[in-house]
Amino acid sequence: MRRPFIAGNWKLQKTIGEALELVEALKKQVAGVDGVDIVVAPVFTALTKVAEALDGSNISLAAQNCYTEKSGAYTGEVSPPFLKDAGCSYAIVGHSERRQIFGETSAFVNAKVKALLDEGLQAIFCIGETLQERESDQMYDVLSAQVKEGLTGLDAADMQNVVIAYEPVWAIGTGKTASNEQAGEAHAFIRGLVRGLFDEETAEAVRILYGGSVKPGNVDGLMAQPDVDGALVGGASLQADDFARIVKFERA
Ligand code: PEP
Repeated sequence: MRRPFIAGNWKLQKTIGEALELVEALKKQVAGVDGVDIVVAPVFTALTKVAEALDGSNISLAAQNCYTEKSGAYTGEVSPPFLKDAGCSYAIVGHSERRQIFGETSAFVNAKVKALLDEGLQAIFCIGETLQERESDQMYDVLSAQVKEGLTGLDAADMQNVVIAYEPVWAIGTGKTASNEQAGEAHAFIRGLVRGLFDEETAEAVRILYGGSVKPGNVDGLMAQPDVDGALVGGASLQADDFARIVKFERA
């Protein structure tokens, strides 16, 4: 059985004060939850304060991005050793907003995954097709290329520290969720890719999250899909009540 994994991506939202208010409310609401990995990803400036607030709780900390080099003359970047120093256990890499707005390539995302693993951190590795790619039947080729290129050079042991997030770009922040069947189908395909690249055991163990307008009202149906192991949540992670309900999804 794969342990469910629910992560909140706060994006460029929540000042330090607002972030602390949100985690205090969230801590109370999910205090009794066990058997689920719960993760929040605040903006860089709030990481250390949120890490202090999360100390001793059942919620872990993620960054929303990282750089590939450890340190040096890389103005404006934040690397895995610094994220670890700030209290992070994870970083999100390859989010479609980074790929689309900042032009990040799969090769760059792959270097980020490796940099995180080198530092003993875990990667939440995002992939997903655009609407145009889905409608022109390129979805499987796109997912296949993103998985292969993003995980190049990793071995089965490395994969224990990688969580994959399938986020169809057309469903992110749009209110349009993939249907349970669309999510289930894509996840089964991605697990098959992992099987082909590594082995059966790795494919069965890797957690694949769905992301794209996950809400309290649709999480149960998504989580009922056999290959959906969790959620990467944007908008609905900004409200403690909504995110807590997603964490406490009801098993079919
Ligand atoms: C995301 O940012 O990863 C995301 C899935 O956003 P939303 O839940 O708002 O669609």
